[in-house]
Amino acid sequence: MNRTARSRIDPTRRSQGRPPDPPHRCHARGCTTEVAARLLMCRKHWRMVPRDLQRGVWAHYVDGQEVRKDPTPEYLEAADRAIDAVAEKEAALA
Ligand SMILES: [Zn+2]
Repeated sequence: MNRTARSRIDPTRRSQGRPPDPPHRCHARGCTTEVAARLLMCRKHWRMVPRDLQRGVWAHYVDGQEVRKDPTPEYLEAADRAIDAVAEKEAALA
């Protein structure tokens, strides 16, 4: 069991005007594939996420959050778990 409870949600990135949107990339660690803003990961990495974690991510997804930049803490946590799951699988494959 890996219990690194990371909460790296940066609260300072709010209300500082509107910086230009950088390209949105896959959230899997080390992956630089560009994906649509509403997607957490590229297809390849998303497929490595266990189904229940995938469901968790979509269950907490709120339409338009990627535009408003206001995903819920629940979404971020679900996303984090999915990212961890992929990292673990990739480590096992390496
Ligand atoms: Zn990826």
